[in-house]
Amino acid sequence: MKVIEPDATTRVVMVNDHAVGRDFVVIAGPCAVESEEQLVGTARRVKAAGAHMLRGGAYKPRTSPKSFQGLGEEGLRILRAAREETGLPIVTEVMDARDIEAVIAHADVLQVGSRSMFNYTLLTALGAVDKPVLLKRGMAATVDEWLQSAAYIARGGNERIILCERGIRTFETNHRNTLDIAAIARARRLSGYPVVADPSHAAGRRELVMPLALAAVAAGADGLMVEVHPDPASALSDPEQALDFARFDDLLARLAALRPARAGTA
Ligand code: PEP
Ligand code: MN
Repeated sequence: MKVIEPDATTRVVMVNDHAVGRDFVVIAGPCAVESEEQLVGTARRVKAAGAHMLRGGAYKPRTSPKSFQGLGEEGLRILRAAREETGLPIVTEVMDARDIEAVIAHADVLQVGSRSMFNYTLLTALGAVDKPVLLKRGMAATVDEWLQSAAYIARGGNERIILCERGIRTFETNHRNTLDIAAIARARRLSGYPVVADPSHAAGRRELVMPLALAAVAAGADGLMVEVHPDPASALSDPEQALDFARFDDLLARLAALRPARAGTA
């Protein structure tokens, strides 16, 4: 699935037995953990389709305080149940340094969300953690600011960093964000950290997820993070961008077809 091979400068981040940076990874799951049935059902299905890790937020950074804020510790318990059931490593967001201990106990990769990329207290605390961190790019952050945030984590001794390009705010309002394809290649080259792309938050619309995912892979992304929900219309957060299972199957089939392509190095 990788069209640009890692070179000697690419750092490999092990997540259980997945070598992120060397092996292409697909992280899939709902925006938010809503129930055990929803999450475990999704986990089983995305695993069967070929996903390598399960995503799902227990702590949700929502723009409106009136929106569903996540199930918190109950969500973490459900994530653990999904891992026990499927063996998929868990990627979930930690919003507050005070929650790190609870999240570490249940997660395999700690996600820093776009809204938290400038939370230097959180980043510093994650520097002392013995778990990989998936660091999303701030929606208004330059590549340099993003890499400086990674340096906050690395400074504490945690170099297990995976960057995630999730789209930035531009003047374009037709789609939710603008996926910065150049930043995928640039951040990877400048830092050596693996870079995954999140076409779901970039697109904001499910029909754009496939083309953005394919573009990201062509640009050398080390993986994808995609929102998948058993019934997108009923999702408690980000219903417009979630893929149903059939669309997720289509995406993985298209990705598999890309495998032989090569596009030179960034
Ligand atoms: C998410 O991945 O759940 C999320 C909230 O995304 P972002 O931080 O990129 O908005
Ligand atoms: Mn979401």
